Amino acid sequence: MKILLSDSFDASLPGRLAKYGEVTDDKNQVGSADVVLIRSKTKCTREFIDAAPNLKLIIRGGVGLDNVDREHAKSKGIKVYNTPKASSVAVAELAFALMIALPNQLITAHNSTVAGQWLKKDLKRTELLNKTLGIIGCGRIGLEVAKRAKAFGMKVYVYDVVPVSSEYIDGQKELAELLPLCDYFSLHLPLTPETTGLINKERIAQMKNGACLINTGRGKTVVEEDILEALQSGKLGGYGTDVYVAEPPENAAILKAPNTVFAPHIGASTKENLLRISDEVVLLMDQFAKGELA
Ligand code: NAD
Repeated sequence: MKILLSDSFDASLPGRLAKYGEVTDDKNQVGSADVVLIRSKTKCTREFIDAAPNLKLIIRGGVGLDNVDREHAKSKGIKVYNTPKASSVAVAELAFALMIALPNQLITAHNSTVAGQWLKKDLKRTELLNKTLGIIGCGRIGLEVAKRAKAFGMKVYVYDVVPVSSEYIDGQKELAELLPLCDYFSLHLPLTPETTGLINKERIAQMKNGACLINTGRGKTVVEEDILEALQSGKLGGYGTDVYVAEPPENAAILKAPNTVFAPHIGASTKENLLRISDEVVLLMDQFAKGELA
């Protein structure tokens, strides 16, 4: 069996997979691969899948499967799995880091201090204590964010298409009720036709003036031009994001917007999480090798 590591994984993974077959990271060998391991970079499009006639299994190390043409894979009898549990803490911690960075003006504070300025009197901070957080899409990651928000003394409401309850949540709302209620929003949505462009001009208009938005879900769940306009007008007080409509967001207008914190899609990339992803991949490979993977 040939296993192609098409994206980067923890350095221990090739050694751990060696007992199942030949392991390679040479993408030119896709044509003879039985199993392809990907993260978010490789796009398993129809063309990619068609170029791999031996392919039987795609494992996405991570959560979102929007980079896999699952319909086409299914039509070819190729199994597609992800590692949904591994990344929750890693992404939630980044979402929280972005949410703390905005009201504490950390980016301006850092850049100005390094530049020799001393903005002690100019930089005004606000606290998260007693503020209201709206979690949009509250599955595994959203719940980890809720837990952290409670520790900071925030009120936490969620919007989700399925019922969500947890000791860390003060209530579930319809989106139209949630939007005017919150000081902060954290997006944890999968990219689907329903979530594409969900946070647009009309929905931003329903938010409180100065609300801050955090996005560690998927870039295309927001309309970036509408976010930009709202940041420029002050309607949005800040935008912290790990994800973009196009990645990398080369020359994207959003990068010039005020009151922002940007990360290069590193939500899942903690050392600990890469190990957890590897553990889940090995478990899946074990089941696959034993013929136990449904
Ligand atoms: P999850 O499946 O546990 O939770 C997603 C939640 O979104 C579910 O509760 C689901 O019911 C809800 N949802 C789906 N469609 C919706 C809609 N139209 N409106 C409202 N709610 C909707 O997934 P998760 O592990 O919490 O991950 C969430 C997303 O985070 C992933 O799909 C992925 O896009 C993104 N993610 C990003 C990174 C990163 O590196 N930044 C890493 C991992 C995951």
